[in-house]
Amino acid sequence: MLADRRAKIVATIGPATQAPEHLEKAIRSGMNVARLNFSHGAHSDHLQVLTDLRRLSRDLRAPVSILQDLQGPKIRVGKFDGGSISLTEGEEVLITTDQIVGKPGLIPSDFKELPLACQPGTKILLDDGLLELAVLSVNGNEVRAKVIFGGTLKDRKGMNLPGVNLPVDAMTTKDLADLEWGLANNVDYIALSFVRHGRDIRRLREIIDARKSEAKIVAKIEMLEALENLEEIIRLSDVVMVARGDLAVEVGQTHLPGIQKRIIRLCNQLGKPVITATQMLDSMVGNPRPTRAEITDVANAVLDGSDALMLSAESASGKYPFAAIRTMHEIILEVERTEETYYKISLENEFLSVPASIAASACLSALKLNATAIVCLTTSGKTANIISGFRPRARILAVTDNIDVLNRLELTWGIQTLSIESYRTMDEILVQVDQVLVEYGLAKTGDRIILTLGQPIENGSKTNSLFVHTVGAENVTRASDKGLPLRCQNDSSRNS
Ligand code: PEP
Repeated sequence: MLADRRAKIVATIGPATQAPEHLEKAIRSGMNVARLNFSHGAHSDHLQVLTDLRRLSRDLRAPVSILQDLQGPKIRVGKFDGGSISLTEGEEVLITTDQIVGKPGLIPSDFKELPLACQPGTKILLDDGLLELAVLSVNGNEVRAKVIFGGTLKDRKGMNLPGVNLPVDAMTTKDLADLEWGLANNVDYIALSFVRHGRDIRRLREIIDARKSEAKIVAKIEMLEALENLEEIIRLSDVVMVARGDLAVEVGQTHLPGIQKRIIRLCNQLGKPVITATQMLDSMVGNPRPTRAEITDVANAVLDGSDALMLSAESASGKYPFAAIRTMHEIILEVERTEETYYKISLENEFLSVPASIAASACLSALKLNATAIVCLTTSGKTANIISGFRPRARILAVTDNIDVLNRLELTWGIQTLSIESYRTMDEILVQVDQVLVEYGLAKTGDRIILTLGQPIENGSKTNSLFVHTVGAENVTRASDKGLPLRCQNDSSRNS
């Protein structure tokens, strides 16, 4: 069942997945987090997707996190007559900030400050570094450059100037308008692109707090400057994304594997969920099967300690979006059979806060007592998130009657979200938990489980207690798949 997989799958929604029947197929294939990419699409299109996702998620009883990815100050080329031009090695081209349609030898860009950021010798990379130009001269609003690596340059492809500190804000006017949309429509996560400093995160947090929103911040690490301020950025964010597309271009692609491992390690140490993104199964944009290298990349990202892995063009515009999600699901499941994915942080460390200490104790008890599951009765999801950071072998079941919390927790490693009726006493909790676990096939009568909760229960207290329990649902049996939440159904019946 889908609930067996620990690392989560983020799928970018686009033309290949945005129809309601395709969104349903994406959830059934294993999508946990839907990424709405605000580099493309109108607000009305995103609203339709969000509304359909919320409805499907409710009908399938499968919480889904919605992640709004703000475009940020991404520099792009403009549009070309016919949709693309060809660049030939050694050819000279002119880049202009005039609002014109490009043609062979003439590349428009909407980045007005481009001439200020360039000088002879500046390297300009296009289309995630596939094409390269070297600046020859700058004149007014025009930059003359020589093609170093040629190829086809399509409309609106990205432009990077590695190592140049660009005079831009992390949030553009468009981002601020898009953010308003996200907050008004209750997205679960907001991803900030091209983060460079802790202050970029602080500014976004102030806006979110002022709107009294619970939305969490994903910091996309894709700039050299972000690596210089990495620890501060991670501490201030809720989630981190290794945005390998722009990051590889900025740092030089051979540095990427080491930097990916460094970011993930630090996130694991600081207890922050981390998403590894971009080109994980890129060849599946056009082919039904991935390459060996891609299978290995997905597996290694899990072994590195990622909470979630992301599909971009594979699910947004590829020919095989559902096969890509399913392939990722199967590779992850296989890797998670090895012990290497579990207990990444020593349970012997010092844990000074109450939730951290309860979380560590729950994981230790689960390990020593060979418990089937750690059940977190949660109001905010905080303890469940900390427990996930220890990567326990036992299932982590986050239980609440708050649907927003359930949706948000869907991004984090290993957390299975379950909705239960509100409760007032320990007896009410145990009856419901026993029933749900056995009925959903998540535990058997006689299994040990560990509960974390806040007492006194009737006051809605924050987590402060740990309770060891033996599942005792004598007269309950596993329900038939039709009556179960999607992720607890057997694989064979899930896609029907
Ligand atoms: C990336 O650069 O890897 C990334 C995820 O960001 P985007 O797709 O917005 O360029």
